[in-house]
Amino acid sequence: MGDVKLVDAPPGVEGAGFFATALDKAVGMARANSLWPLPFATSCCGIEFMATMGAHYDFARFGSERPSFSPRQADLLMVMGTIAKKMGPVLRQVYIQMAEPRWVMAVGACASSGGIFDSYSVLQGIDEIIPVDVYVPGCPPRPEGMIDGLMKIQDLVRNESLRRRNSPEYKELLSKYGIL
Ligand code: SF4
Repeated sequence: MGDVKLVDAPPGVEGAGFFATALDKAVGMARANSLWPLPFATSCCGIEFMATMGAHYDFARFGSERPSFSPRQADLLMVMGTIAKKMGPVLRQVYIQMAEPRWVMAVGACASSGGIFDSYSVLQGIDEIIPVDVYVPGCPPRPEGMIDGLMKIQDLVRNESLRRRNSPEYKELLSKYGIL
């Protein structure tokens, strides 16, 4: 029990018996350390994700031990594997069904760019149909790469303004994808 490490408190002002910080920072800290991933795995990168979830690499250390297969109970969409163009509308539907705020990680070369499958049937990157926050390179990425991607997502989440999702810039981004 002595090895349990607590998350650092957000920046703020501390004194005897009080600690003051900004609401954005407190909410960001809570969100960043309780991301629930939705694994959208279609091929080999998904196997690497299974290794990442196992005891050795232990995604749970980041508060992400609860994979969700229901879009409404997930806030991090992890897309792993080759996405055929026929699968594109399904992926888009899953993204739309997720509640805000939501983040997206493209894991591996296929999800990021189509990978080696430069063919008529394969989507050349999921950012053709949904916005992506972090790309994890590799074919497949090692578990360390996925963990690095998760930590980059955590940085985004921790520092995101509570108002971002209502901003004109965000609405414009979604409207470029025909989502609103
Ligand atoms: S990036 Fe490589 S390992 Fe991952 S799904 Fe594509 S072919 Fe498989």
